Amino acid sequence: MKFIDEFRDRELAHGLAAAIGRAAQPQRDYHFMEFCGGHTHAIARYGVSDLLPANVRMIHGPGCPVCVLPIGRIDMAIRLAMDEGVILCSYGDPLRVPASGGLSLLRARAALAGGGEIRMVYCAADALRLAQENAQRQVVFFAIGFETTTPPTAVVIRQARALGLRNFSVLCCHVLTPAAIASILESPEVRQWGSVRLDGFIGPAHVSTIIGSRPYEFFAAEYRKPVVIAGFEPLDVMQAILMLIAQLNSGRAVVENEFARAVTREGNRKAQRMVAEVFELRRSFAWRGLGELPYSALRIRREFADYDAERRFPISYQAVPDHPACECGAVLRGARRPQDCRIFGSVCTPENPVGSCMVSSEGACAAHYSFGRFADAKVAP
Ligand code: SF4
Repeated sequence: MKFIDEFRDRELAHGLAAAIGRAAQPQRDYHFMEFCGGHTHAIARYGVSDLLPANVRMIHGPGCPVCVLPIGRIDMAIRLAMDEGVILCSYGDPLRVPASGGLSLLRARAALAGGGEIRMVYCAADALRLAQENAQRQVVFFAIGFETTTPPTAVVIRQARALGLRNFSVLCCHVLTPAAIASILESPEVRQWGSVRLDGFIGPAHVSTIIGSRPYEFFAAEYRKPVVIAGFEPLDVMQAILMLIAQLNSGRAVVENEFARAVTREGNRKAQRMVAEVFELRRSFAWRGLGELPYSALRIRREFADYDAERRFPISYQAVPDHPACECGAVLRGARRPQDCRIFGSVCTPENPVGSCMVSSEGACAAHYSFGRFADAKVAP
């Protein structure tokens, strides 16, 4: 298949649904976690769950980069603009995530009085250009995301050094996928309580183009959980589900690659080298919903310390509890469904998000609100 429509073809989807129905053995259940927010969005948007038999259940994972950002990290970004007077550059979605004191980056922007600015950028290079255009101002790029967005951040840090820029730095909040998967498999819900059954994973698409399929081999071997890396189109996801069912039926637990048109076992070596040159592992990093995870995020190496906002400015991370009614933590661990949160769709909506999972279109709550909430209703509204 060459064109995007072909990956959304109705007839092929029905054929795959029938194949899944035949493969799923009636005497057993199948519980698969789609780790990545892109898959969560695709499953909700194209109604993939509705095409699955009742004994095949999809569980949302913590692969939305905006959702896993803890409140304390957004507070740091806000403090940079409010207290340090920098031009803080952020992607669009983090601007709306609720932070401490009733603020978000957007609300803080409206309240700024002391010379700081908060601007939305589309890419890391935009932030670097702002620094070049505003030589008298400190410009900080609020860098978030999994392995997909890390190489562009490495590029701008290297460029800033090559250009000798003294007014550019990065608040690094890049996190790592394998660490999050390990944390889920080690979580009490999965390991001790068994309240979240996970039989296999749909592995991320974009992330895997960078890191390759090899890092998932550990999970397949150590935890006996099959992993199938899949693209973001509905037929990709359905094919991956069929492949996971086939593995379980035959008692196998290996890594398979449905997204072979973009992912190799080794990944993008050039991007990996660049990331390794600029970043190193953090000993510990706080994730929303998953807590402090060892070696689960990156920080800027000492050689590039001049471009590290955490060294340049007097800011430090302080943990902040979520809103008491918010179930984002449990949703991110797969322990609760969005619709199980008692403020879903009433107090918490995409227009007025209370938790982070309702902000990005890749967030489980936002995806279910946009595409699935009416399916829950007993009577059509
Ligand atoms: S509905 Fe809102 S508060 Fe509840 S879990 Fe989802 S994002 Fe968090």
